[in-house]
Amino acid sequence: MYNLDNIKAPAGKMLIGSSWVSAQSGETLAVENPANGDIFAQIASGSALEVDLAVKSARAAFESIEWSRMRPLDRSRLLEQVALKLEQHADELALLESYDNGKPKHLALMVDVPTAVEVFRYMAGWCTKIYGKTLPVSGDGSRYHAYTIRQPVGVIGAITPWNYPLPMAAWKVASAMAAGCTVVLKPSEITSLTTLRMAELMLDAGVPPGVLNVVTGKGETVGEALITHLDVNKIAFTGSTPVGKHILRTSANDLKRVSLELGGKSPTIIMPDANLEKAIPDAAMAIFFNSGQTCFAGSRLLCHDSVYDEVIAGIKEVAKNLPIGHGQAAETMIGPVVNKKQKDRIENYIRIGQEEGAEAISANSKIPEQGYFVAPTILSGVSPDSRVFNEEIFGPVLTATKFKTEDEAIALANQSCFGLGANLYCRDGQASHRMASAINAGTVWVNSYFVLDPAMPFGGFKQSGIGREVGEDGVLMFTESKSVCMSLES
Ligand code: NAD
Repeated sequence: MYNLDNIKAPAGKMLIGSSWVSAQSGETLAVENPANGDIFAQIASGSALEVDLAVKSARAAFESIEWSRMRPLDRSRLLEQVALKLEQHADELALLESYDNGKPKHLALMVDVPTAVEVFRYMAGWCTKIYGKTLPVSGDGSRYHAYTIRQPVGVIGAITPWNYPLPMAAWKVASAMAAGCTVVLKPSEITSLTTLRMAELMLDAGVPPGVLNVVTGKGETVGEALITHLDVNKIAFTGSTPVGKHILRTSANDLKRVSLELGGKSPTIIMPDANLEKAIPDAAMAIFFNSGQTCFAGSRLLCHDSVYDEVIAGIKEVAKNLPIGHGQAAETMIGPVVNKKQKDRIENYIRIGQEEGAEAISANSKIPEQGYFVAPTILSGVSPDSRVFNEEIFGPVLTATKFKTEDEAIALANQSCFGLGANLYCRDGQASHRMASAINAGTVWVNSYFVLDPAMPFGGFKQSGIGREVGEDGVLMFTESKSVCMSLES
């Protein structure tokens, strides 16, 4: 069943410059397959020492003539080469992700790997289009020529989570490189393997040593060393809201630039005129895809009273037909959640939901005995004041709440400390635009969900984050704007 022969993850090593190194302490962390609990690999457990070496390597690369004077067209070609290299290894990367994270391989091949490939291809275009402006200054009339230039921020500390390891790493690295920055990347200790393999493929593609360094290990050691390092200019973080807040507080010490992509509790809103043939399967997949471990998962169903029963029955039917199993089986749609800690946390939330008065509808009871599987679950009749309505569960659990009017739907959608995404199902064009404008979220999908595109800035309102990744905003956040003002008289 399992065949790791084609996988080449550098065992127990980290990338600093062009060298694959072990932790100087010799310590490693075990990598577990969530489908069966087997330990199938080890990663290096880095420390502040390796972070310091990696930052020095990134600084040297940033200041090197090879990187700092690389022509934008050549940087563009390099990013295109990286895209090509990842694409050529798509199958291998998808399989590796499936072992490491548990997600179905065919879905990683359809979503995770192309998302990573496409951001390198998209950002290749930006290398040649980072412009300043000519400024019409008013002081002393026309005796000054003033303009802005966009310069790379410098050395980036990038920190990524375990739910979409490869795309999250690629979004940061591709955007930072397009802007001319260099990177020290710390992947989640739970899922470091595809990031390490991506780094190896990037060296093969011709990325100069030191432009990307990868230090593996725990958040409280490697992550902490990165966010407190005085020679890191910016932290680009994706992960939970509590850790994001800690990073923001810590960055105040030296005013590091910080961008944060954090948690969510995104609504799927179904209006009375919605096309239910589309809305029902979409609402199901918006929460159950990736076993609910998606930051912008549609985890709160807000459904008009008149169609509520039909929608709940429909979502249950869709979920019932989603095969649950290990990620290498071709038919699997729902893999395990990432580890036991997450499984326990999700099951605890299902219990809390029931205690708070919701009806728990388990849509599929055929779950494997071994491994960390959780059946897709609907919590019906959830009160907006309950914990399960307000807290991020991060598993295949949908809360369902009724509304009667458009205003009530908007108020419920906005009743959250998060504001990452929202899915709206509505046929009335005017109502759709009204609601898209009124919902406080970084992205509103209308009659669609999960459409991510490297051209569309992505990020959160409120406690879902600060800043936007990808798109023009995503590349410019790795630059500093400098004004140059020159007298035209000597
Ligand atoms: P997490 O916050 O526990 O960990 C994320 C990363 O931060 C890991 O690499 C971890 O090692 C590191 N970390 C932990 N403590 C740290 C510290 N003190 N200093 C520096 N780094 C530290 O999050 P997770 O459990 O890996 O991921 C799930 C969370 O990520 C969910 O809340 C999800 O919504 C969020 N997420 C958000 C987005 C987005 O784009 N908004 C995308 C994916 C995931």
